[in-house]
Amino acid sequence: MADCIFCRIAAGEIPSNKLYEDDQLLAFYDLDPQAPTHFLVIPKVHIASVAEITPQNSAVIAHIYEVIARLAAELGLEQGFRVVTNCGPQGGQTVPHLHFHVLAGRDMTWPPG
Ligand code: 5GP
Ligand code: ZN
Repeated sequence: MADCIFCRIAAGEIPSNKLYEDDQLLAFYDLDPQAPTHFLVIPKVHIASVAEITPQNSAVIAHIYEVIARLAAELGLEQGFRVVTNCGPQGGQTVPHLHFHVLAGRDMTWPPG
């Protein structure tokens, strides 16, 4: 989608602090980190949110989680991390291209105490 910021990042039209890339996905650091480690993983194909996942496009989701596991190990996140995906306005989603936040480096206990 031409006017989608994460499609443009995936296409390399907007620069990002890239962590990993392959033919299906891109992982890059969040511009406004909410934890000492905070990166995003997005499919290169435009999927608006979790609400738009279908049997036809869901294979990339498994791949995203495989890559998250690998990157977490490579980054030394043995103490744990959180994976978050916000969906829709009431779910706190501000960028309408599916993305998985990976956060680590502080206490992630849920629910907050
Ligand atoms: P959401 O609020 O949709 O769950 O998350 C969107 C995330 O994207 C936010 O954490 C925000 O900081 C990040 N973000 C928005 N625009 C950009 C950008 O241009 N580059 C990067 N690296 N992160 C961005
Ligand atoms: Zn997009």
